[in-house]
Amino acid sequence: KATKRNGHIVMSPFMAHGHLIPFLELARQIHERTSFTITIAITPLNIQYLKSAISSNNDIQLAELPFNSSQHGLPPNIENTEKLPLPDFIKLFHASVSLEAPLRSLVSKITQEEGHPPLCIISDVFHGWVTNVAESFGTGNISFTTCGAYGTLAYISMWSNLPHRKTDTEEFWVPGFPKNYTFQRSQLHKHIRSADGSDAWSRFFIPQIALSMKSKGWICNTVEEIEPLGIQLLRNYLQLPVWTVGPLQPPASLKSSKNRAGKESGISVEACIEWLHLKDQSSVLYISFGSQNTISASQMMALAEGLEESGKSFIWVIRPPFGFDMNAEFLAEWLPKGFEERMEDNKRGILVHKWGPQLEILSHSSTGAFLSHCGWNSVLESLSQGVPIIGWPLAAEQAYNAKMLVEEMGVSVELTRFVETDISKEEVKKVIGVVMDQKEGRGKEMKEKANEIAVLLATTENGQENDSSVRSMDGFVRTILSS
Ligand code: UDP
Repeated sequence: KATKRNGHIVMSPFMAHGHLIPFLELARQIHERTSFTITIAITPLNIQYLKSAISSNNDIQLAELPFNSSQHGLPPNIENTEKLPLPDFIKLFHASVSLEAPLRSLVSKITQEEGHPPLCIISDVFHGWVTNVAESFGTGNISFTTCGAYGTLAYISMWSNLPHRKTDTEEFWVPGFPKNYTFQRSQLHKHIRSADGSDAWSRFFIPQIALSMKSKGWICNTVEEIEPLGIQLLRNYLQLPVWTVGPLQPPASLKSSKNRAGKESGISVEACIEWLHLKDQSSVLYISFGSQNTISASQMMALAEGLEESGKSFIWVIRPPFGFDMNAEFLAEWLPKGFEERMEDNKRGILVHKWGPQLEILSHSSTGAFLSHCGWNSVLESLSQGVPIIGWPLAAEQAYNAKMLVEEMGVSVELTRFVETDISKEEVKKVIGVVMDQKEGRGKEMKEKANEIAVLLATTENGQENDSSVRSMDGFVRTILSS
């Protein structure tokens, strides 16, 4: 039997930047705490991606699972969401199930070599099929949600309780939430709204989530104190242990992100930071929609116009609009005439193409707010720095994160939702004003609340003995050692 000394954990992350990086940090933290061997099993190009993202992470093993994207109708040599056109995402989800056979071979090899199966397999919630693999080797599967508890619960419950197309009222109840708690139809992403159990999205998410709900417990990248409601509800809904071990933000990724931003964006990280140095405290709006999303052409135009009229300074990580090749050259016609030059000339704002040094920007004292798609990593990174959020959810569970940020945390105003919605420059200007004017009113309140959450997140990061995430991680380790 495996012991604390020779324990081995295998991890199976989903193929997306926002999943791989928290997995890597989870691996690093478990290894540091226990000396267990940790093997992350993932496809060849994602191994290269992880290797370039980490500088000194030699203690974590990376095991290659063969994968040929063309066999799944994906563009050649594409193994994660980042360079994938959005309509192809569903193909990648379905393709991920093909990793079952190579994962079985890997676990079999480890079991033979070590004389016993791994302590457990930690798999992405999207990789529910791993529960079958774990079971056949007589070990346990632990699901890891890289999202927050509230967003995770809303997301899994919505997929498990279809259809929502027939939701005939604007407001409706979601199982798992208190009876008087309502969501809005407009918060349903189009894939969930039109799902009926037979479409490609349902055929992936329904069974994978159901299988993940049969695992031995869930790990969640959150902190008990910042979303008590979501965590309590998620525990009730799953009837499983939920270990809250966040925030999982690797110092190493800061380095990789920095190198990458310099290489891909055409503007050096140092130049960005120097530009921020010249600005007043909390006076700059940072805009980014994460690693894989973008807004529509008409939304981009309205955002630029509203931004210009708001008079606020900004750094905008920008990609071609929805429907265009994400990797294509950026065309000036997607923005108001002369916008980029005007903003540069009067030192109002910088456009950073493709990839920005997000952690450096958020941690700079000149940054006052973050216009974000509310991806969970971005949410944690922003709140860790006490930066309030202007929400613009685009996919996945982001609309539920946005709802929680507004209603439960009080650190955000939601500007709009998704890529199909029309927005006007007036709305953009108004919301930017509300959130960025932090001397009084709502802007001040949101800033204060964000600062309070930053304190909770920082305490956790310091890893103090009485800290809830440390206790939770210890509870997880005790459980897998005793089962
Ligand atoms: N990120 C970055 N620079 C960019 C875009 C994204 O460093 O230009 C990082 C960001 O710091 C975060 C992650 O990529 O850690 C995005 O994760 P999130 O969960 O916010 O969104 P996703 O990309 O999964 O939609």
